[in-house]
This record gives sequence, C-alpha cells and structure tokens, in this order.
Amino acid sequence: MKTAFADLPVTIFDVMSTLARDHEAINLGQGFPDDDGPEDIRQVAADALIRGPNQYPPMLGLADTRVAIAEHYRAFQALDLDPARETMVTSGGTEALASAILALVGDGDEVVLFQPMYDAYAPLVRRAGGTPRHVTLRAPDWSFTEDDLREVFSPNTRAIVFNNPLNPGAVVYSADQLELLAKLCIEFDVVAICDEVWEHVVFDGRPFVSMMGVPGMRDRTVKIGSAGKMFSLTGWKVGLVAAAPPLLNLVAKAHQFLTFTTPPNLQIAVGYGLRKDASYFASLRKALQIKRDYFVGAMENMGYPIRQSEGTYFATVDVGALGIDDDAAFAKRLVSDFGVASIPLSAFYAQKPSTNVLRFCFAKNQRTLDEGLARLRRAARELGLKG
Ligand code: PMP
Repeated sequence: MKTAFADLPVTIFDVMSTLARDHEAINLGQGFPDDDGPEDIRQVAADALIRGPNQYPPMLGLADTRVAIAEHYRAFQALDLDPARETMVTSGGTEALASAILALVGDGDEVVLFQPMYDAYAPLVRRAGGTPRHVTLRAPDWSFTEDDLREVFSPNTRAIVFNNPLNPGAVVYSADQLELLAKLCIEFDVVAICDEVWEHVVFDGRPFVSMMGVPGMRDRTVKIGSAGKMFSLTGWKVGLVAAAPPLLNLVAKAHQFLTFTTPPNLQIAVGYGLRKDASYFASLRKALQIKRDYFVGAMENMGYPIRQSEGTYFATVDVGALGIDDDAAFAKRLVSDFGVASIPLSAFYAQKPSTNVLRFCFAKNQRTLDEGLARLRRAARELGLKG
C-alpha cells in the first residue's frame, strides 16, 4: 500500500548530518546550537524529574505551563489568550504542525504553502487528504505579491501554512506582507497555520509580528511556537499552540492521538523559561547576532555571495551566482571534498527551483565556526573566489 510517506526521501537534515559524520565534517547543516541552553532551565527540568510528577499530564498540557504561555505572549506580542481555552502544549513544533494539519485539512481541501518551505508541511498536507498549492517566494528577499497569492487561493482553499521568521530563507516578514496575506485569508475564509517557531530569533532590532495579532486574524490563526528555539534546547521538543477555542478544540483532537502529552518535567521547565523577562530574550538575540555577524562577515570577505540573515540560526549563500546549477550536488561536494555540511534549499521545493542556494547554520561555538570557515576558505580558493 502506498501512503503519503512511502516514496519520500529521508529528510535532508538527516541526510546531511549523516554525510557530515561519515566525512568527519563540520556540521553547519542541521540547525542546532553546539552548547546547551540556560542551566537554570535545565536545573528546573532536572529537579522536576526527580521530584515528580512523572505521570501523564493533562492532554492539553500542565495548567501552569499554559498560563505561562498566555502570559508570555501577552508580554511579548500583546496577544490576549485565555490559557484554559486557547493554549496547548505539544511534543515540539513538529507535532503541533502535524496536529494542526491533520485536524484542519480534509479530503479535497487545498492548502497554500510557500516555497522554499520547511520540509514537513507538504507530506502532512497530503497525508491529511489535502492538495498543496505552492507560492514560490521571490528571491532574494523571499517576498510575495498579491498576484502570487491570487494565483493559488481558490474557493477550495482551506488553510495556509506560513512560516515567519522563515527557515530556510532567514527573513522576517513585515506587517505589510502579513496584512496582504491576511487580506486573502479573510476574503477566502481560510485558516492560517502559522509556524512561528523562530519568533524570538530576530536580529537588528527588527520587530516580530505574529499573524495572530494582524487585524481579522485573531480567530483564524493557529499559532505554533517551539521552546527548543526559545531556549536553545532543540532536543526537548516542546511545542506551544495558541488558537481560538473552535480551532484549538479541533487541533487537540489530533494531538490526543499523536502524542497525547509531553513529559511533565520539560513542561514545568518551559513554564519557568517562558516567565523570563525581556533581558533573557534580548541576550539570546544578541549572542546569536554576534555569531551571525562573524560568520556572514567572514563569508563575504571570502567572496561568497551570502545574504544577510534577518532571523533564525541561518544564513544563505546564493551559489547560483557562482555558476553552480545544482545546489544539492554542490552541498555534497562541500562535505566530501572540503568537510563542511550545509543544506541545499532545493530540498525545500516541490520541483527543482530556478535558484541554487545553500543554508548554513551559524549558531555554533567559536571553534566550530572557525574550523568551518577555514574549510570554506579552502573551498573558496578552489572555486576561484576572491579570498
Ligand atoms: N518549523 C520550523 C520552520 C523549524 O525550523 C523547526 C525546527 N527546525 C520546526 C518547525 C520544528 O520545531 P521542533 O523542533 O520544536 O519540533
């Protein structure tokens, strides 16, 4: 029997991380920091593990963690959420996405996706019985126009899945772009599944605007966050969902049969972390921005056509501008010949795109970045770049 997953390749993140291990490469592919997140948050998780409780928490999440979610989004994004009816804890942003898509998309529904897109979206939409309709974001700023949207929105459109800040494009969408998208969602009566897992990782003082706060979108948005990204603890897989009760109730019905719940000690620690004040989140951004500046500056000096990163752990290099017409093949060569792993953006498209771009993760410690850059310098020399 064929399912939506049968013919899928292994996710590009695992492919490149495996290649990185095989070639003893510096792994600037998969997006995880070298260093673990704040010790106080880990200590709260450790204490809660020993002290308990360690039995099934409530299906929607621990009551106090859900209060912390509502408090957090009130403080940072001016959202007014009822913790008891409008928040839920999941096992990662990934499970939140799966729950939302499986719960809200049915046979014959069309779902608007924006490519390059996080690679989980399309298989989940198909598994739910839906048909993806793709908007190809316009390089270099990964923008879209009203015409781009009108080409794919139809009376059959049930939902959009929209990622902001964008992984892999590393842009943060402005209120103008969000309002344009909102206009179409309202006109076509569409639910917006908004993957905002990178909401706190934005640079240069750029504001992050949640789709839920855009006029007309409050009750048609399923907002998805990830504690992994907020606290540099990507292995924890704790997701945060916010949605109006009719949507949240539906999403919870999928969640109850996917994971039902999430380890209680991690929920307790995430609740503690969500109550951190603005200075924690400012220092998270500052530390990552220093790494971004270091990596992007060094790559620019070597002659790589690197684009500025507005948010996320990533920066992208337009290898198409170097005459390379197969980013995946080039990424493999970079691992095998030069010992640096990256992620080719073609993996995030339904068909081979006209662009050829690599994504590099700069959320690494100094030693990893320096060794990665030294190897990229050797590659630059071989490619005949100016460095
Ligand atoms: N969406 C996007 C855009 C992501 O980048 C990631 C993590 N790389 C996820 C979802 C998954 O989040 P989590 O690790 O919390 O499942």
